[in-house]
Amino acid sequence: MTYFSPRDGVLCAERVPLPVIAEAVGTPVHVYSAAALRDAAQRFRAALSILPRVRVAFAVKANPNGAVLHLLGGCGFGADIVSGGEMRRALDAGIAASDIVFSGVGKTDRELADALIAGAGQFNLELEEEGQVLAALARAQGRRATAVLRVNPDVDGGTHAKISTGRRGNKFGVAIADVPAMYDRLSRLDGLDLVGVALHIGSQLRDLAPLEEAYDRIGQLVADLRARGHVVGRVDLGGGLGIPYRADDVVPTLDAYAAMVARVTRDWDVELTFEPGRVVAGLAGVLLTRVIWVKPGADHPFVIVDAAMNDLARPALYDAFHRFEAVIPDGERMVATIAGPVCESGDVFAVARDIDRVRRGDLAVLHATGAYGAAMASTYNCRALSPQVLVDGDRFEIVADRYLPEEFAA
Ligand SMILES: *Cc1c(COP(=O)(O)O)cnc(C)c1O
Repeated sequence: MTYFSPRDGVLCAERVPLPVIAEAVGTPVHVYSAAALRDAAQRFRAALSILPRVRVAFAVKANPNGAVLHLLGGCGFGADIVSGGEMRRALDAGIAASDIVFSGVGKTDRELADALIAGAGQFNLELEEEGQVLAALARAQGRRATAVLRVNPDVDGGTHAKISTGRRGNKFGVAIADVPAMYDRLSRLDGLDLVGVALHIGSQLRDLAPLEEAYDRIGQLVADLRARGHVVGRVDLGGGLGIPYRADDVVPTLDAYAAMVARVTRDWDVELTFEPGRVVAGLAGVLLTRVIWVKPGADHPFVIVDAAMNDLARPALYDAFHRFEAVIPDGERMVATIAGPVCESGDVFAVARDIDRVRRGDLAVLHATGAYGAAMASTYNCRALSPQVLVDGDRFEIVADRYLPEEFAA
């Protein structure tokens, strides 16, 4: 099911023709579909309903827009956060503090203390010293912190190196061999309730095998911890499921994922936490842009659009593929390199790609930008942060204004 498809020759978001949004809000603009978000959230929860005890926390870093978080909170999602700023966003969106999972490899003392005051439901510890600091902060506040220890299972997720997090040598988690002794020490700390373990091996995973291998290792670890006398009540299985960016990309279905989890965790007897990001929001957004120039090039013309790497960093960061589609295609094709205006040769969305023919002034979209799109935007080249629009049926609203820091304004 796609929520961005043509009606009478004009590409729409649900029932809103994209030229209407471009006219009203300007370009570039990130456009989200509320129905697509709700549908993805519900399908995720429905697939996991075969598991006994489940909590789902949306990875806020994938899309921290307040309206998006509010919508997902309404679908029963908590929030997986990695900074004080993301905590603010989640709380402002109405997500209960007790449904907040605080991940991240570099939480400051200030962020830890603020999250304790807010009542965050779970801290995912990245190192022993963090547990000691958190316990001391909790004692100073007369509270207790609920925590799990993030494990690095040393499994290669088979994804792009820059979004791989579960291998030995990555900065994330504690080496699995070091976990039992560390768990013994941390569980003795006053002020800290260590209730389990967490892992997250990477993002845009297109194969279940590495996840299954990592989960298997965690299952063995849970048994080891119990053999040492610990009560292990929670395991956080992270996020990472991939989405089809290309028309012919094959990714695991949610049902296949849930069936694998059910099989692997059958005897664990724990509450499972999931932290999906991309798989919930990725396909629920497009980046709407206008062609500024079609510039002749050595081998192919350059289609210079008004969106750039500061609006969508993934192609420049990870050589990521985003489908390009004209909003009102004329039926002709062209081979072109699609680039933004930023002064970097890496500011390119596609190289020598066969695309809908476009001309100066035409509108087009880059697909599947609902996760890690606006979330990663910057003001590089003193460009504005692009606005964000949420479509729901035949209506739309601006859910983030175009933002240009005052000191950049002409
Ligand atoms: C990024 C991240 C996620 C979400 O990853 P997706 O691939 O978007 O599902 C979940 N948990 C942690 C700890 C993360 O860093």
